[in-house]
Amino acid sequence: MNGSGTATRTGVLSEVFCTFQGEGPHVGKRHLFVRLGGCSVGCRFCDTPDALRPGQGYAVRIPGLEVVRPNPIEPEAAVALVRDAVSRVCALHAVSVTGGEPLEQVDFLEPFLAGLAPLPVLLETAGTLPDALARVIDSVAIVSMDFKLPSVAHTAPSLDAHRRFLRLARRREVYVKVVVNDRLDAAEWDDAVRLLLDEAPDVPFIVQPETRRNGSLATTFSALAALADRATRLGLTDVRVIPQVHKFLGAP
Ligand code: SF4
Repeated sequence: MNGSGTATRTGVLSEVFCTFQGEGPHVGKRHLFVRLGGCSVGCRFCDTPDALRPGQGYAVRIPGLEVVRPNPIEPEAAVALVRDAVSRVCALHAVSVTGGEPLEQVDFLEPFLAGLAPLPVLLETAGTLPDALARVIDSVAIVSMDFKLPSVAHTAPSLDAHRRFLRLARRREVYVKVVVNDRLDAAEWDDAVRLLLDEAPDVPFIVQPETRRNGSLATTFSALAALADRATRLGLTDVRVIPQVHKFLGAP
């Protein structure tokens, strides 16, 4: 809301760039990333610290255009920027709208995503804002939903919000991504798996090992195998271990 009490439609971006999707089941596909600025979730392992607070400007790095522009941006201008970027890139699989937490800017996101049709949009989100998701779900093709484990992320428990979020996200292609490390609490793991069994037992469940700043993984192969096997034994049908591939490529 702005000072007059009405919702502001302008948005704050962090960066717009072309790369390969580095996480989840669409890894390796050519994506245009639109990263929104600002996130209040506070994950300990966050690897986008520059996007946690709204910045004064955003960087555009697409073929033939490298520039920094001022925030905020109107949704119509953001749509024009994406369409220009898409026209410069061949064989784009999707526009990945990420953050920060994009759903924290839902008043901007709603007209922005609606304006992108029919481009396929992949929404990357922490999966804790179901009311905001309800406003944009019809403009989203793929939902990449995080599942935050407090013992790993050092965030507050969010099982109820994740449950409501997943019920809505099921209307689209959705996968659930959970970051793990060697401090994971086994009871939290079982709670997360059981929630998925209740709500969406067939969606891809992506176990993503935390990548440390030095590039090493914050857990072991045997621990990852044990987690995946336990989730499968409990009843999930599509469990995959996929690290952050873009970090191996030196990509943003
Ligand atoms: S939700 Fe994403 S952007 Fe926000 S703190 Fe967690 S990892 Fe960082």
